[in-house]
Amino acid sequence: MSNPIRVTVWHEYRHDLENEAVKALYPDGMHSVMKAAIEEHLGAAVVVRTATLDEPEHGLTDEVLANTDVMTWWGHCAHGEVKDEIVDKIQKRVLEGMGLIVLHSGHYSKIFKRLLGTTCSLRWREQGEREILWCVNPGHPITDGLDDEKFELENTEMYGEYFDIPTPDEQAFISWFEGGEIFRSGNCWTRGKGRIFYFRPGHETFPIYYNKNVRRVLANAVKWAAPSSSAPVRLDAPCIKEPLAPISSTHVVDESLHNH
Ligand code: ZN
Repeated sequence: MSNPIRVTVWHEYRHDLENEAVKALYPDGMHSVMKAAIEEHLGAAVVVRTATLDEPEHGLTDEVLANTDVMTWWGHCAHGEVKDEIVDKIQKRVLEGMGLIVLHSGHYSKIFKRLLGTTCSLRWREQGEREILWCVNPGHPITDGLDDEKFELENTEMYGEYFDIPTPDEQAFISWFEGGEIFRSGNCWTRGKGRIFYFRPGHETFPIYYNKNVRRVLANAVKWAAPSSSAPVRLDAPCIKEPLAPISSTHVVDESLHNH
């Protein structure tokens, strides 16, 4: 059996401490519910830890990052408090092959905007309306095991187009909302060696992470985003002064012009 996927569920963890409605839904924090969802589906195939914003280094020490195969990210009101040096380190890990699953309001996180390179802005409305997530990629590993070609969330916050993202490499879901909008709600990209999945559901005042289909998609995404190889990738720009075979050229290089 292959090694378990090492998952870090990262959560800003502010609303659940400060807002009574959110606290009632998620008394131990949304991260504990996400962790349970991933474990429920993947069992011994995963080892899941959690990390939160207010821990030292946001819970993302070099040791944690080096031992994470897939990270999930939920943030909303405190994106600006995430330290840039930690964002740099997460970006490097994604380029090396760590999977990243960005959830709901994480569309405005520093790490998501950094990796995608666009504003990641969208339209929104919080009126508890109905949402249908249509599976537009049957057979994709992220949609595996869903009962139907679509699933519904009875009460959600609306996210609408235009969603300012690079065209996804693959798309798993499109959402329809009761108020008329649509939204690209399950999107895949690759950056460097790393796989990235954005999944829309997850507004904190609705019990979204208890929904069985949302839980299934979260676990599927973890499995999909896990790196297929742990082979180290060199991402600096080394000068190879000793070639594998002799080179006959007499070209002289002024090394002072090269500052890699
Ligand atoms: Zn929200």
